[in-house]
Amino acid sequence: MARLSIQDARNAVLEHVARVESEQVALDDAFGRVLAADAVAPNDVPPFACSAMDGFALLAADTQRAPVRLKIVGEARAGHGAGIRVRSGTAVRISTGAPLPDGADAIVRQELTESADEDVLVSEPVAVGNDVRYAGEDIARGETTLLAGTLLGSPEIGHLASLNIAEPPVVRQPRVALVSTGDELVSPGPELKPGEIRDANGPALTAAVRAAGAQVITSVRVGDDREATVATIDQALRGADILCTVGGVSVGPHDHVRPALERLGTREIFARVSLKPGGQVCFYVTPEGTLAFALPGNPASALMAFRVLVVPAIYALLGRSHTLHTTRGIAGSDLPGVIGRTTVVRCSAEMHEDGWHVTPNGEQGSHILTSLLGVPALALVPEDRELLPAGEPVDIEFVG
Ligand code: AMP
Ligand code: MG
Repeated sequence: MARLSIQDARNAVLEHVARVESEQVALDDAFGRVLAADAVAPNDVPPFACSAMDGFALLAADTQRAPVRLKIVGEARAGHGAGIRVRSGTAVRISTGAPLPDGADAIVRQELTESADEDVLVSEPVAVGNDVRYAGEDIARGETTLLAGTLLGSPEIGHLASLNIAEPPVVRQPRVALVSTGDELVSPGPELKPGEIRDANGPALTAAVRAAGAQVITSVRVGDDREATVATIDQALRGADILCTVGGVSVGPHDHVRPALERLGTREIFARVSLKPGGQVCFYVTPEGTLAFALPGNPASALMAFRVLVVPAIYALLGRSHTLHTTRGIAGSDLPGVIGRTTVVRCSAEMHEDGWHVTPNGEQGSHILTSLLGVPALALVPEDRELLPAGEPVDIEFVG
């Protein structure tokens, strides 16, 4: 079977994803979550007309004969009204954010006045509404201000607080199960025995899952044994929205993941995509609708396949658009490509006058994780290019 392009593979994955259910969380816990329902303003913001400046509340008509001296009849501070009506010939001292006193229709900022305790000299005329913030000027009651699917950052959280939405509905975090395969893998700990290596993918994928806004419900390891692989995957699938296995997807005698997934009744949607590194990735759906990605074991391959296919799946489960911060850059030096595969080149990026220049960050082998360290940008060299010469434009994705 011909390898799918990464776009076709993404689309094939997204066909099998529906948004998961929502839950309510306290605003303090809402950062980084995805809003599950449109936010509709239950009140005006600001809730009342108020001053935009420190100065004096007065009648604009009085200032038309400026310079003019007005009698100070009271003070309005933030959180406290003046409790007095402003009439012609008078003014109320006012602070930023204080309610506009009854009768007043304009503010003169302090810099345009000279005041003593009793009265104020206004040096310039102002128009009605000058430096007044009217009720609902920022948000009018009934307005839809945030759409479902919005990622909640600090401005959105402040905004929800000003709307008195203390427990916003957010999309439940997708549950991801990780299964790392390989007899050679061990966790950080005692010295390695001959043939052993540290398990880098388990911790790296756990971090990648969290960065994408999902949670890891289990991360386990299994040796290269068919029955153990079947049993481990079967167990890991329970309660998961997504299963990611890593390693053991080739066709060698010790590659058990694909036969195990088939034994468990999963349906293969595609095997292999035209991506380098990471092209050995396979995608299955279980009878219960759980998405199962079999990622290749080489660390750079695993992370690239995760980024290209699993991140969009997590976003879709969250109801977020899967657009991956793609922009256009310029090859800062020759970028390697492979005919028939989209090559993801791990790059450093520098801003120049004509935009981002990207340069490979060292050795690009699929086993080399160091070329991903500190990398801000991935350059996507298209399938029909064996080499993308320095100076040519190239699509880049910033690593978020
Ligand atoms: P595999 O896909 O199982 O054939 O593995 C390909 C290569 O990636 C082998 O050199 C493995 O030792 C290595 N590898 C597989 N899984 C991991 C892992 N979790 N951490 C680090 N390297 C791994
Ligand atoms: Mg292996």
